[in-house]
Amino acid sequence: MATVVNINNNNSTPAAPFLPYLPIAAPAPAAPAPAAPPTLKYIPVVGPKSCTVVCPNCNQQVRTRVTHQATTRSHLIALLLCFTFLWPCAACVYCTPCARNAEHYCPACKVLVATYER
Ligand SMILES: [Zn+2]
Repeated sequence: MATVVNINNNNSTPAAPFLPYLPIAAPAPAAPAPAAPPTLKYIPVVGPKSCTVVCPNCNQQVRTRVTHQATTRSHLIALLLCFTFLWPCAACVYCTPCARNAEHYCPACKVLVATYER
């Protein structure tokens, strides 16, 4: 009488059954968020001197800090004055704020709020 010997019976843990790769289903796309209305950037109208504005960056009511910056026009005026008999006045272009742009900065967040152009 022949005996059947199970050669695979080695008392080890059975191998994990083969699991076919199942791609993870992508979550259903959420409903598109309603489009936010476009925000209009508020640019305050400023003059040559410091003024009170609502900062468009931090939304605080602040008194602006003004710095005067020379522009290309300022340099051209100074250059023209150098070639005339008014050459001593050329330095005045850079000394007086009336020939330069006034840049208004927010003292709270240090952002350029507006520029008053000459
Ligand atoms: Zn600010």
